[in-house]
Amino acid sequence: MPLDVLEYLDQPGRRFPLHAVLHGFDAEEGGVRTVEDVLLEGEAFVQLSTLYVDVEIEARIVQPCGRCLTTVESLFRLRESFTLPIPPQAASVDVRPLVVQLALSAHDPNVLCRPDCRGLCPICGRDLNLDPQHRHAPEDRDRRRLGDFLGS
Ligand SMILES: [Zn+2]
Ligand SMILES: [Zn+2]
Repeated sequence: MPLDVLEYLDQPGRRFPLHAVLHGFDAEEGGVRTVEDVLLEGEAFVQLSTLYVDVEIEARIVQPCGRCLTTVESLFRLRESFTLPIPPQAASVDVRPLVVQLALSAHDPNVLCRPDCRGLCPICGRDLNLDPQHRHAPEDRDRRRLGDFLGS
């Protein structure tokens, strides 16, 4: 999101209220986690070609549960102060990449859909939350291996 800094540049040192919403999402490498709807609320000012931002960031992150891969959506807040250089002649500064990076690094990458998530069956991949009694008899497992071997 390009933040218009012309007004800031006109009055160095003056703190302006900052309120912005970043829409859409940015996928992390591999596309596993996405950051959606980031809300910025705080203040910003310019001093010596540097943009100073002091904001509360509210971000919604969507990612798979670390055990069963169900999509987990988490909303969290963090307070951040950061600076960005303002290139000569620039009328705006893009705060988005940094904000997304801050949100991702502050967020636990190993979320669970619930603390006692049972995960997936290591043999057949069935979701054990839906079927807690699910089990494989030992001979079942052997038969499956033999089946794989015969290509059936
Ligand atoms: Zn889970
Ligand atoms: Zn199974």
